[in-house]
Amino acid sequence: MEANKLETGFFNKARETMSQDQRIHILTEKLKEIVNHAYQHSSAFRKKMRQVGCLPEDIQTIDDLEKLPITRREDLVEAQKSFPPFGGYEAAPREKMRRIYVSPGPVYEPGPWEYDDTRWSQALFAAGFRKGDLIQNTFNYHLWPFAFILDDSLKMIGCSVIPSGPGNSLVQLTIMQKLGVTGIVAAPSFLMTLTQRAESQGLNPQKDLNLKAGFVTSEMFPETLRKLLESKLGIPISQAYGTVTTGCLAYECPARGGMHLCDDVIIEIVDPETGKKMPKGSTGEIVATNFNKTYPMIRFATGDLSFLKDEPCTCGRTSPKIGKILGRTDQVTKVKGTFIHPWQTDEIISRFSEVEKYQVVITQKGHVDHMIFRIELRDESVNRDILRAKLERAIKELLNVKGEVEFVVRGAIYDRYKKIDDQRKWDGK
Ligand SMILES: [Zn+2]
Repeated sequence: MEANKLETGFFNKARETMSQDQRIHILTEKLKEIVNHAYQHSSAFRKKMRQVGCLPEDIQTIDDLEKLPITRREDLVEAQKSFPPFGGYEAAPREKMRRIYVSPGPVYEPGPWEYDDTRWSQALFAAGFRKGDLIQNTFNYHLWPFAFILDDSLKMIGCSVIPSGPGNSLVQLTIMQKLGVTGIVAAPSFLMTLTQRAESQGLNPQKDLNLKAGFVTSEMFPETLRKLLESKLGIPISQAYGTVTTGCLAYECPARGGMHLCDDVIIEIVDPETGKKMPKGSTGEIVATNFNKTYPMIRFATGDLSFLKDEPCTCGRTSPKIGKILGRTDQVTKVKGTFIHPWQTDEIISRFSEVEKYQVVITQKGHVDHMIFRIELRDESVNRDILRAKLERAIKELLNVKGEVEFVVRGAIYDRYKKIDDQRKWDGK
């Protein structure tokens, strides 16, 4: 296979290429079924529905999901403290749980007896893994669910697996060489460690290893890191996005340009404060509803921010895509109704080499939000009026909100500063 070129094709062509109407129809039927199931079998979910005065029959369409409250990881932790071990979120008796995983929190997460969710398989297939491949799985098999889930998903494609787990990079490299491993699944940072270790051992990964594709997930994967790893290893490296609790949510196809939403899950992009859907294309929090009958997650908030892209893709898959993951909701601030995130302000400032340091301060004057960019200059001799005008234009362009620039003396912004300092006073605070 040619280096860096991904094989095309589908794990399940009919599902991956169905029309959007068909997809919505299937998802709506599955939604009604899982809401009924969870209402009957999960005491925590039943309680949540009763709190908002909702019955299963009130959920007839995907839009009806907004009637239900959002669940966060903290809710699972709290519920497990009050109602151990599973907090009432489980929807099956313990005898029907094949494995019980322990995630940080700690959260005890029951797994189904038969793992038949094909979402990760679709993602792995799109990444170039095929029947007969030999895959090194470097995710942790100890207590955590993720390595097992990938293991089961690789089996569905027909791949053999080496359950190496993380760490021991020298041993991992020996295994890869001796067994002729053709694919690797890893966190991006660990794949980088392995690559560097190979180079430090005098290996040329492109000649001395038999890899043809790589799959990364669970961490941010910037394009710069992808380019670096692809050029060093000489293989295409694809990513997928998901959480342990909700499963795979989206994955890259050979055409790149975002991640296709998986078929067997409902994704909403919502306002993290209200739980209401954001307008099309706007950035908001990714909220997922899966159809896991052992441990159903209905409107589980991931804490990650992204946006939906609904353009046709050359790969033939018809599901919408999410853009890249932009950051976490706990770093987001709302100014005049628009979310402002540090990655956006960083991007503005990165265009101005004259700026040494900056901080955004948000205040309120007579109920109107006011955003000030405090700027320390690298070179005090620049024309401040011109720079101010350019900066203010860039702020308006990129954030859609007006901001004011204020130049401050060197050292005025503390080293351990908050990038976005929200000084507004809220009622009750
Ligand atoms: Zn595509």
